[in-house]
Amino acid sequence: MDGKILLENHREFLKKRGWILANRCFLCCEEEETIDHILIHCTRARVLWELLFALFGVAWVISFSVRDTLLGWRGFYLGKKRRKVWKAAPLCLFWAVWKERNMIAFDNEELSIHTLKNSFVCNL
Ligand SMILES: [Zn+2]
Repeated sequence: MDGKILLENHREFLKKRGWILANRCFLCCEEEETIDHILIHCTRARVLWELLFALFGVAWVISFSVRDTLLGWRGFYLGKKRRKVWKAAPLCLFWAVWKERNMIAFDNEELSIHTLKNSFVCNL
């Protein structure tokens, strides 16, 4: 049995007991909510990552975890001014995603990709 099937079975098990809803990702409502998921792997966060890479015109492979992403984040090939923004980008992105997540979680807001993008770009 491969890992994916195992994971599916695990989720099925949790779902039957109504546990999975407790920590389902607020942004995509599909995956279990973990820090790495919500900030990096979630399809909603991905939109922002892709936006960031498009803004800088870079091809970047995002690491699997938040920790590795921050550790591997380098902008040595950018000019001085752009490098500053680039360096701040992951934290801006995390902040925008987290703020949006809390608005959905605590204020029952609907997810708006538009607001999310705006909040990210404005912070940046
Ligand atoms: Zn998600």
